[in-house]
Amino acid sequence: MRVFFKTYGCQMNINDTEIMSGILLQDGFDIVNSLDEADIVILNTCVVRQKSQDKYHSELGQLFKLKKKGKLKLIGIAGCGSNLEAEKLLEQGADFVLGSRSISEVSNVLKKAISGEKITYLEDTVCSIDSSSPRLRFSRHHAWITIIHGCNKFCTYCIVPYTRGREKSRPLQDIIREIERLVHDGVKEITFLGQNVDAYGKDLNDGTSLARLIEAASNFEKIERIWFLTSYPTEITDDLIETVARNPKAAKSFHIPVQSGSDRILKLMNRRYTKNQYLQLVEKIRTRIPDVSISSDIIVGFPSETLEDHNETIEFVKTVEFERLNLAVYSPRDGTVASKYLRDDVSRQEKARRLNELLELQKQINRRLNERYLGCTVEVIVEGNTKNGLYYGRDIRNKIIIFSGETLSVGDKVTVKIFQTTAGPLYAESQKKCGL
Ligand code: SF4
Repeated sequence: MRVFFKTYGCQMNINDTEIMSGILLQDGFDIVNSLDEADIVILNTCVVRQKSQDKYHSELGQLFKLKKKGKLKLIGIAGCGSNLEAEKLLEQGADFVLGSRSISEVSNVLKKAISGEKITYLEDTVCSIDSSSPRLRFSRHHAWITIIHGCNKFCTYCIVPYTRGREKSRPLQDIIREIERLVHDGVKEITFLGQNVDAYGKDLNDGTSLARLIEAASNFEKIERIWFLTSYPTEITDDLIETVARNPKAAKSFHIPVQSGSDRILKLMNRRYTKNQYLQLVEKIRTRIPDVSISSDIIVGFPSETLEDHNETIEFVKTVEFERLNLAVYSPRDGTVASKYLRDDVSRQEKARRLNELLELQKQINRRLNERYLGCTVEVIVEGNTKNGLYYGRDIRNKIIIFSGETLSVGDKVTVKIFQTTAGPLYAESQKKCGL
């Protein structure tokens, strides 16, 4: 049987798809790259915003039609949507629903569905995913590694603690075994993943931390760069900052969602810091790592957000000057505290206006910050080719760089000189190729 995965949402879902693909491949299924070739489709879903939920529902509608025409045998749902609306999805016509902490059971669930059983499986089997679990990696030079599952923070707008459960760290030695295998397979860059990646190790109560893990991973000679995503402001320790500053393989990049520049809104969101605490953190990181890149997320139009709150966010963004900013319009998620107790009272037009204002501001900041790169030489790891025959990759600060050069392969490290900057990617030409 040929299985096609369609993956929505964050890098953790991508990593889960890699693991489910590996398990199915090992059990004799074929993993195919397109819907046309598939007998079975599994949607690995995301419900973090209404838009992402609508997207997979619309895809599901199309898939049901294909199944009716006999072009598909089975349709399954995995990811956060499974935990949120399993019953509804089965009623609508899905053949099986697999929870976001149940991916180790994908093969057993699929086999039952093939035998005609309509099945929902939401048990927490997350501990059985370890370094020995098979994985079908989508990249040859870079690997996602989930190091902590779930989240304990309960921000009032967020559905993740309900769909992905509480924090559970993987043992450090098991992650190291996974890296050993990756090195053997030729991987040069790794990204440690967690909803709250810097909380890694706390629940293990043995001194394990993200800082220790980065140090241990950097001992592998073949590992060139180590990234980590996503950080929660109050979980970033001095030890982590020190490790990133000292360790040449640790990416000089922190993604730290702030969500709002208004203390009143931060409190309503149950974010456990004030804007001043966030600013102090940024200053601390920049003092210790002057060339660091700090990026963030902001939600626009949270319930009761006034013009004054929004203007505070504008001023905050001007003060911090993020290297990258992901902006999202607030949408209530059923089951969250905000959707239950706070009225979604900022009009759609006003949300769009505030979003555009922030987008425009961030574009200006990006343009200005990127100009500092003009004439500089930086080391880039090649990630692929553009349509017009150039290469693209990123430097250790997470800057996307498009460049020309001699024949290169994905994973090669090259030194490039920046000759043009934009608000988006930087343009460069390669100086020389370094043998890795
Ligand atoms: S920290 Fe907040 S926003 Fe992030 S996953 Fe946890 S609850 Fe959601």
